[in-house]
Amino acid sequence: MTQKNNQTGIDCRHYIDGKYVDSINGAVFENSNPATKEKLGTVAKGSKEDVDKAITAAKRAKDGEWKKMPMRERSKILRKVGDLILERLDELAMLETLDTGKPLWLSKTLDIPRAAHNFHFFADYMTTIGQESYQQDEVALHYAVRKPVGVVGLINPWNLPLLLMTWKLAPALAAGNTVVMKPSEVTPMTATVIAEICTDAGIPKGVVNLVHGFGEAGAALSDSQDVDAIAFTGETITGTAIMKASAPSLKKLSFELGGKNPNIIFDSADIEDAVETSIRSSFLNQGEVCLCGSRVYVQKGVYDEFVDKLVKRTKELKIGDPLADETFVGSVVSEEHYNKVLSYLEIAKEEQGTFLTGGRATPNAPGYFIDPTIIVGLDKDSRCVREEIFGPVITILLFETEEEVLKQVNDTTYGLAATMWTQDLKQAHRIAAEIEAGIVWINTWFLRDLRTPFGGMKHSGIGREGGAHSFDFYTELTNITVKL
Ligand code: NAD
Repeated sequence: MTQKNNQTGIDCRHYIDGKYVDSINGAVFENSNPATKEKLGTVAKGSKEDVDKAITAAKRAKDGEWKKMPMRERSKILRKVGDLILERLDELAMLETLDTGKPLWLSKTLDIPRAAHNFHFFADYMTTIGQESYQQDEVALHYAVRKPVGVVGLINPWNLPLLLMTWKLAPALAAGNTVVMKPSEVTPMTATVIAEICTDAGIPKGVVNLVHGFGEAGAALSDSQDVDAIAFTGETITGTAIMKASAPSLKKLSFELGGKNPNIIFDSADIEDAVETSIRSSFLNQGEVCLCGSRVYVQKGVYDEFVDKLVKRTKELKIGDPLADETFVGSVVSEEHYNKVLSYLEIAKEEQGTFLTGGRATPNAPGYFIDPTIIVGLDKDSRCVREEIFGPVITILLFETEEEVLKQVNDTTYGLAATMWTQDLKQAHRIAAEIEAGIVWINTWFLRDLRTPFGGMKHSGIGREGGAHSFDFYTELTNITVKL
């Protein structure tokens, strides 16, 4: 049903109760390729009625076969989902690239393999989960049993569409829940295929449902009394709206929100390593990774060397056709986002910033391309330094002391991730312990182990996912006490 040729998009319909369906009112919107502005297909535009239909299917299925299935069998099916993703890797990678504008090699080596790994990992991990138990002298034995939460809404953004959707879908299913997915309206294609893959792998109908659409569709999930939990990744402001709408039904919420992450280069850094990785942490996926280190702080002793080398390497990056192997920077995801990123370049100009590279839309491009941009000379309170731009744009500031940089690093409402470069072990531990962020990388970036807690503090999120943390969110505990 969703199978298509290379380089063409698919029409995206909702997936409810094991079938692809149109919107009840027949509404659709157009999906286009941001790298070419060409139409990729139509997308069903979900309204509250469509979301309610999907919730009803998920609610009907929630105490059914999936929840009751022996753990080994459920694990085997989830493993099969991972296998089928890998079998369809080329097709999924192409769809992801057409939808987002990201380089095809990146979809093939990061997005889609990681989506498969999410399923393989949680299929294995679920079989290792034990339970808490306490013997209270000779009085009682207490033990806690885990149960699925019920119907879980999964609301996702456009930057790593399948990777992030499966990051939630796999543990939600492993824990025995039923789900309604709401992918971003900007990148609907791979979620459409994953629904079919789940059925092909043997997940019973009604367990995995999907509704396309805009904020209205997401809001209908938050509003519903029949959705027991929402796992959301997206902008902080949307998280606030979801929290407000979820309050009357007191849903469980897991939020992975925005970030404005520091990348700190100390005098003792291995500069070659720091430069090579900073190229990735600045411009991978066009800078559209929530973990990107877009605030770069460089200590005085290595400032000139680091900046010169980073500028030289940035100028060598190939921008252009996402399908070409040599492309490092593709197009940003949409016209709206392109205009947002360009507006920050205007702000940087007004704030007297100096562009060492980029600072402009890529000339003569067929789509929404922006040259990788390095800005210096801005004040620490510049909007470009403080606000999430989420594009191929970084700012660099010079610092002299640890105290000075720590103060600036933590002077933000965000707290998602931080990277630091130092070969001084004591300094590494000292600074890492002081940074207000959910994740701190020392001499590396974006190195993930799915067992570790992932998430942000302050306005970057609520809760952690990954390994046992995911199971804590996607399950409820009942403590049972037996009098001895
Ligand atoms: P967004 O918040 O605009 O949209 C995310 C999803 O929420 C979309 O599916 C959208 O349709 C839906 N939505 C919009 N309004 C809604 C409402 N009122 N109720 C319910 N759902 C609603 O985010 P985006 O622009 O798609 O993604 C970029 C953002 O995501 C950035 O801020 C980035 O930092 C963040 N992000 C965070 C992480 C993380 O792990 N912390 C990972 C990736 C992206």
